[in-house]
Amino acid sequence: MVYCKIPEYDVCVMVGQSGRLGCFMCSFGDLMETVFYAESTQEMLDHLSAHDKKGDSVPLGLHTQLVQDDLTNFPNNPMTSEPSS
Ligand SMILES: [Zn+2]
Repeated sequence: MVYCKIPEYDVCVMVGQSGRLGCFMCSFGDLMETVFYAESTQEMLDHLSAHDKKGDSVPLGLHTQLVQDDLTNFPNNPMTSEPSS
């Protein structure tokens, strides 16, 4: 599952070969570690808002999509969110 890619956006968010949701070629990474793996949907959302604050382009609606796929990406670690109004 690919959510967004460089160069269309400044972030590359997808489920990698390991089956883990990550931010690949992450600009917050260093030479040794260029992938940020999220342990939960919320962690990825927090990570993406950090990109957003930095001025990176993050697709509109990605947050919603990640929340929708929460149970797919993190079946053992679902987020406990209140229904959005
Ligand atoms: Zn990142």
